[in-house]
This record gives sequence, C-alpha cells and structure tokens, in this order.
Amino acid sequence: MGELILPPRLSAEIAAIYKEMAEQYDVVAEQIPLTCQGCPDNCCDSYFLHYTYAEWAYLWEGLRALGKEVFARILTRAREYVQECEQVLEKGERPQINCPLLDDGLCGLYFHRLMICRNHGVPATLTRPDGQQMRFPGCFRCQEIVEQNFVQETDAPAMERTRLFRRLAMLESEFLGNMRHLYPRLKMTIAEMIVNGPPQDIESCLKSQENA
Ligand code: SF4
Ligand code: SF4
Repeated sequence: MGELILPPRLSAEIAAIYKEMAEQYDVVAEQIPLTCQGCPDNCCDSYFLHYTYAEWAYLWEGLRALGKEVFARILTRAREYVQECEQVLEKGERPQINCPLLDDGLCGLYFHRLMICRNHGVPATLTRPDGQQMRFPGCFRCQEIVEQNFVQETDAPAMERTRLFRRLAMLESEFLGNMRHLYPRLKMTIAEMIVNGPPQDIESCLKSQENA
C-alpha cells in the first residue's frame, strides 16, 4: 500500500511520448510560423486540467529531483494557487492564476511538464474514440497568424494528436493495470497534483475515500 511509482520502462515511454509531441509541435509551429517569443500573453496562467495518473507520477519524478528549497517554494505557491483557485471557482469564474511551476516567466520543470502544456499553441486535429473528428485552432496568437497567412483556417498545418493520445492512454492502462476501473476519475490542476503529493495506489485511494 502506498505511492504509485512508474516502472522505469513506463517512465522512459512517457518521456518518449513527450519528446515526440514536442518535435511534432515544433514542425507545425515552424510552418505557421508561431513562436512564443515576444507574446504579450503567458499561457501558464491558463486553467489547465490533467487527467492521467501516469503524468501525475511523472511530474513527481521531476519534483523529487529538485533541491529542497526550490521544492518548498513551489509547494507554497501550489498551496496558494489551490486556495485562490477555489475562491475564483466559487464565484463561478474561470481561474487565471500563474502555475506554481512558473519561474521568471519560464517553466521550472520543463522536461516534466504535462501533455496539455506541450500541445497548447498550434492548431491540432484529433479523432475521438467514437470516431468524431475534431480540429482545434490553436492559441489566440496562432489564430491571428493563421488568418494572415492562410485563406481559411483548415488550410493551416495542424498537429495530429490522435496517435500520441492513444499511446498515452495505453500507457495509463498499463500503469494502473487491471485495477484501472477502480481508480477515481482524475481531473486536477498541476497545483493540486503538487499539494496532494504523489498518486497513491488503489488500496490507499479507497481508504482515503472511506475516510472522506
Ligand atoms: S502558446 Fe500562444 S498565447 Fe501562449 S505564449 Fe505561446 S504564442 Fe502566446
Ligand atoms: S507546468 Fe510549466 S508549461 Fe505547464 S503551465 Fe506550469 S509552468 Fe507552464
């Protein structure tokens, strides 16, 4: 009973998926062309929610490698984030608060940042499990550039997310194994993933649910 730890093979697989995402992102960004340099916005205050235990565990691999002081600073910011976020959500508004990992405008855990952070920006396409095709136009800056450079939005190149998302879903299944259906559905901000500590195995999850 205790912490859910990624076996080395799955840890390497998640790093490989992330790497491929970054490479595909760069190809599309170059074709648009889109760069975050000089952007008046910083997407790291977006209310991103994350859905996989495997990514949560991988985030903790990165957090554990940080120095004590750096981690303590991040934990304080994460606690503040969670509190502030609750207040904003209670008012029925969408939070816009800097991610606790943001340091001087840069991601403080770049190689462990989550999938949603990695995909935000360029246009993307996705085929859902029910076969429905979806297209996302990218961030506001990307949409402005696409409008200038392409006749219509669908002429712009897009990052095809389906295969990589499936790979991540398969990894998640393997990670949680035949207990997958028992784990509570995940929907968490990075701040909550930090404040709550690393993901726990199913026995611990069920116990904390009983005590809640
Ligand atoms: S993803 Fe888009 S909105 Fe976000 S920082 Fe980059 S260019 Fe700006
Ligand atoms: S994890 Fe990094 S990239 Fe993602 S929102 Fe936080 S600071 Fe930004």
